Amino acid sequence: MTVLAVAEHRRGDLRDVSFELVTAGRELADELGSDLAVAVIGGDVEGFVEELNREGVDTIYTVAEGEEFNHGIYAQTIEQLHAELDPAALLLPNSVNGLDYAPAVAEQLDLPLVTDVIALEGSDPVEVTREQYGGKVEITYDIGAEQYVLTVRPAEWPTATAGGEATVETFETDIDEGALGTTVKGFEEVGAGDVDITEAEVLVSIGRGIEEEENIPLIEALADALDATLSSSRPIVDNGWLPQNRQVGQSGKVVTPDVYIAIGISGAVQHVAGMKGSDTIVAINTDPNAPIYDIADYGIVDDLFEVIPALIEEFGGD
Ligand code: FAD
Repeated sequence: MTVLAVAEHRRGDLRDVSFELVTAGRELADELGSDLAVAVIGGDVEGFVEELNREGVDTIYTVAEGEEFNHGIYAQTIEQLHAELDPAALLLPNSVNGLDYAPAVAEQLDLPLVTDVIALEGSDPVEVTREQYGGKVEITYDIGAEQYVLTVRPAEWPTATAGGEATVETFETDIDEGALGTTVKGFEEVGAGDVDITEAEVLVSIGRGIEEEENIPLIEALADALDATLSSSRPIVDNGWLPQNRQVGQSGKVVTPDVYIAIGISGAVQHVAGMKGSDTIVAINTDPNAPIYDIADYGIVDDLFEVIPALIEEFGGD
């Protein structure tokens, strides 16, 4: 029996989730008493093999097909690997790419799919846990099948340690070019030149409470004073006041800064889903019953237009 995990790479680098999949895959393989195979499709497969040779990996399958991610190539290759290896579990990253091909693969192979898995337990049956309703509840499913597909949430498992002794095998895939459907022509970063809020240590985040676009410079002044990055709730993006890559939440980005300052944000579940992992949460809101205070470490129940100028003065704005 085998557990098959599929690595992910972008622009020449393996993404961390690949090494996390090794840890999750090994955990499951141990429960099932099976081998762990990892497949890497396209790009610098030779280079990737060295990095993927982590503790717990039994076999690495290299597929020299394409440079960057292509839905059709991944879907067809994984289906062919599945036919060859007949794995109990297929573990894919719960990433933009993974969520692109996982449903197609599961449908094509007629297998059950559970996405965004955060915990795995047992072998008979295997129990998988995922969050529901924007992180309000966790649900554990018994997988009622001997074979299944799981997408694994990034950053839930630690990365596997280097120093494995995997066997490396080349897998020859037979791509039906006519069925690919899409051609990758190139890459353009969304919001090129803009910041990546997922990397920021301190985020100053604004919500509908700022009332007007003209008030954003006030918050930018606070961000400057704190050496912080500006992010927002969804209405700010919907209004076109900030670009989409600044949105925190379920349909935006998941952020885990050291400090998250929520200004005029109510704390709707869809927003909280994207920032509840922050180390320290500070809320500034006139409504003492705003849900954001349920998760805030510190709160200032006051008018932001009074509080922000005072903070700017305190923290060194001009
Ligand atoms: P509001 O809920 O209107 O809150 C404004 C807050 O500002 C209030 O609490 C108010 O008391 C306070 N306030 C007003 N004036 C002041 C003042 N002068 N000083 C201090 N405080 C003041 N939302 C997201 O943010 N991110 C997402 O990714 C996201 N995805 C979604 C996905 C789906 C499928 C759906 C249905 C919704 C999603 N939403 C998302 C929207 C979400 O449900 C909320 O509508 C949104 O988060 C509310 O934004 P807000 O807190 O800025 O506004």
